[in-house]
Amino acid sequence: MEHKIVLIPGDGIGPEIVGEAKKVLDRVCEKSGHTFLYEEVLLGGASIDVHGVPLTDEAVAVARSADAVLMGSIGGNTATSPWYKLEPSKRPEAGLLRIRKELNLFANLRPAYLYSQLKDACPLRPDIIGDGFDMLIMRELTGGLYFGERRTYEQDGLRTAMDTLVYNEEEIRRIAVKGFEIAKKRRNKVTSVDKANVLDSSRLWRKVVEEVAVHYPDVELEHMLVDNCAMQLVRDPGQFDVILTENMFGDILSDEASMVTGSIGMLSSASLNETKFGLYEPSHGSAPDIAGQDKANPIATILSAAMMLRYSLDLDGEADAVEQAVQRVLEQGYRTVDIMSEGCTCVGTREMGELISKAI
Ligand code: NAD
Repeated sequence: MEHKIVLIPGDGIGPEIVGEAKKVLDRVCEKSGHTFLYEEVLLGGASIDVHGVPLTDEAVAVARSADAVLMGSIGGNTATSPWYKLEPSKRPEAGLLRIRKELNLFANLRPAYLYSQLKDACPLRPDIIGDGFDMLIMRELTGGLYFGERRTYEQDGLRTAMDTLVYNEEEIRRIAVKGFEIAKKRRNKVTSVDKANVLDSSRLWRKVVEEVAVHYPDVELEHMLVDNCAMQLVRDPGQFDVILTENMFGDILSDEASMVTGSIGMLSSASLNETKFGLYEPSHGSAPDIAGQDKANPIATILSAAMMLRYSLDLDGEADAVEQAVQRVLEQGYRTVDIMSEGCTCVGTREMGELISKAI
């Protein structure tokens, strides 16, 4: 089958890590007989340098016409790069916010998976790690507290500020459906996280999630209060499969979950809209401190490409093959410098990409 994939190399280490992910995708094509048609667009600093703006309308149109977008990361050194002398709406990050909005990407997925070979990097005790963990945080991305009405004013002579947390049932339903659909591709369990003992928005969240759950009898649903979830993530992370939650809770919990894996260069992510379309990118930034030095770990981007195969292209077998190839290369003791440990072989960005593609 033919699939159209838009590549956004971005800034800093972006072009290096996207290059390695493309190598892996090319290998998938070779092995499976599928054809991926690529088109490249500029975003962030790279677009500012060429077009004067962080994202053009043409780039948005090209991204929209694809089955999926695979991105590196954008941005430069915020203290020294001339991009950060521009007004905020012209800076690299403004392009990223705009493309997410234009493509209506309301569901953010961040897996937190502990590779047995990298257990030493996990800050949790071995008895807590147990057999490891493999969870996915599904965060609502376009509603809630970050998008509600806000103002700062003076009341009774006191400086006062107000933010509002609003969700309607449709916004909750569409993310819940995504959560259950994705749980079906995993271990059939959804933990919906809220603060229903206090917040009206959480009580509606819980009700709508329960209504959606009726259509997924094979998926187990549990509710958990957000404060308990923050605790359970470091007490027994192995209990989670899909964690489904609203914007702010997800923002905080996904950072907590990713930290317990211990390695930023390994963390993939995806942002999805109502269709199968998604934008896939590593969770880390553009690491300008190591750009162009063949030092960046390409695994987060390669694993993001695997998510793209699974969730946008429905190529589950091919996604498994990529994930297994990553496992195999780690088992063989190859490491980039960020995950290097004693007795292992240190390799650069390009060699890591080659080893993984050959292992497919
Ligand atoms: P960063 O994630 O780029 O880097 C933090 C540290 O982790 C650095 O020491 C870096 O060398 C290291 N690192 C990150 N990715 C790595 C990899 N794949 N392999 C090895 N080491 C890696 O965060 P930062 O330094 O705070 O931000 C740098 C730039 O990235 C900023 O302009 C920021 O705005 C941008 N940023 C972009 C995104 C995105 O594109 N979605 C996300 C976060 C930050």
